[in-house]
Amino acid sequence: MISKYSDQKEKIKEEEIEEAAREIAKGNLVLFPTETVYGIGANALDEEAVKKIFIAKGRAQDNPLIVHVSNMQMVEDIVESIGDLERKLIQRFWPGPLTIIFQRKSKEVIPNIVTANLDTVGVRMPSNGIAKELIGKAGVPIAAPSANVSGKPSGTKVEDIITELDGKVEYILDGGLTDIGLESTVIKVEDNKINILRPGKITKEQLEEVAEEVEVDKHVLGRVEQNEIVSSPGMKYRHYAPNTKCMMIYSENEEKMINEINKVTNQMQQENKKVLVIGRKEHLDSYLAERKWNVGETLEEVAKNIFTLLRKVDKEQVDLVIIEGVGDKELGLAITNRLIRACAYNYLEV
Ligand code: AMP
Ligand code: MG
Repeated sequence: MISKYSDQKEKIKEEEIEEAAREIAKGNLVLFPTETVYGIGANALDEEAVKKIFIAKGRAQDNPLIVHVSNMQMVEDIVESIGDLERKLIQRFWPGPLTIIFQRKSKEVIPNIVTANLDTVGVRMPSNGIAKELIGKAGVPIAAPSANVSGKPSGTKVEDIITELDGKVEYILDGGLTDIGLESTVIKVEDNKINILRPGKITKEQLEEVAEEVEVDKHVLGRVEQNEIVSSPGMKYRHYAPNTKCMMIYSENEEKMINEINKVTNQMQQENKKVLVIGRKEHLDSYLAERKWNVGETLEEVAKNIFTLLRKVDKEQVDLVIIEGVGDKELGLAITNRLIRACAYNYLEV
């Protein structure tokens, strides 16, 4: 098993990408960076190779994988047709962090295991240079979910995921910390309307510049009830959650939010319980908690840092983690979608 680190992060050598591409062609798994999060990839046309992804992640068989491409021919080969609005979206946002759900061409092209037997397939063209080259050199579309054991936060740097995925992949391309830190926006076009199934870096506001109607699926912020049918199977699963109990508290009014967080902290402290607050840098001095972590200043910084911080939470041995909410405007929607899952729907808006 060759698991290799590049000793020059972000300057991975041509030969390393070529070697990784050969592993893909052989039916093996490669860990690689994209602009969103790390992916654990296999040849999307090879059923046996894709099976290895599900085993490595412990991923439910009914949760389909996104297929990553490096040119339009690869898209034409796997989808039934590309509509006008989809073409506009491709022109505007590809390569980039937008996954489009298309009708599948025929069941023989992309194996059923990739799409979890659905008639549709999710496709994305990443902009990260290493990802683009890897797909190009492999010469096949690469099926790749986020690189993490299912349920855990997605990997935004190799150090965070090496322990849980080491020995399960044949090659590791270490491109340093990923640019965005949250997974792609997943959308589906129906009757000239865009439905956001998973929010991400490409925001609702940006999509509204291209389409007249953009809807956010009710499960983006809402809980999935037992046996409820969902538009995107990934919505059903526990995700991003540390073992420590977490709670998200949000108010549009910053002072109110800080007061509420301090109120909950105070109640916990009276019971001799320890609290960790994860909040925006400018608020940290106002918190009473014994432990406070800076998540960043801008929404972009919060997106980039949040998964790494969630991964560290369990080492702190506190009784409660309170995470500041960020609202649902622009990138806030994607962050909130991840946070409410990390908190197992334990959230409060005041
Ligand atoms: P991940 O692989 O961790 O980035 O998750 C991929 C997400 O895309 C999951 O939430 C999947 O449910 C969703 N997805 C992938 N393919 C499809 C599809 N054909 N239809 C609906 N959702 C999809
Ligand atoms: Mg994932």
